[in-house]
Amino acid sequence: MQENEQAQIIKPEDLPRPILEHRSRNYRRRKCPLCNKGCYRDSKGRRLLHDLGDTRDGRPRDIEIIYSKHRCEKDKIYFNANMTDLAPPGSCYTHKVISVALRLIFEDGLPLRTASWHLWRDHLVYIPFATVQNWVEGAGKKKHKNS
Ligand SMILES: [Zn+2]
Repeated sequence: MQENEQAQIIKPEDLPRPILEHRSRNYRRRKCPLCNKGCYRDSKGRRLLHDLGDTRDGRPRDIEIIYSKHRCEKDKIYFNANMTDLAPPGSCYTHKVISVALRLIFEDGLPLRTASWHLWRDHLVYIPFATVQNWVEGAGKKKHKNS
């Protein structure tokens, strides 16, 4: 019960200003995921990811990725430069954050809210409860498939 109360006082606006790390996934040409043909850059995009914070200086860490968007004329599709080394598609959090969260829940057996609280306190990353729940459900499905 005490952990729940602690979790409820999390206020993302109370976190110090994040350290912003810059990464580039900006390429002139990339291969189309459907036909494998090299396709030129059509435009650029920007994506912000929350990473594990820096406990030494007590600041959260964000990663800003500038990436290229490409157009395949043959397949009539747009696709982005690959960023799956840093984070799953559509996620606002890095693989590192997700794996720490899942470890706290599956290996340490912490309830979701407590895991959220640990990530906030020890890694300075705020994750909405529903997001953690999605990761757990996703990981559960994957486990089920592999067994
Ligand atoms: Zn194509």
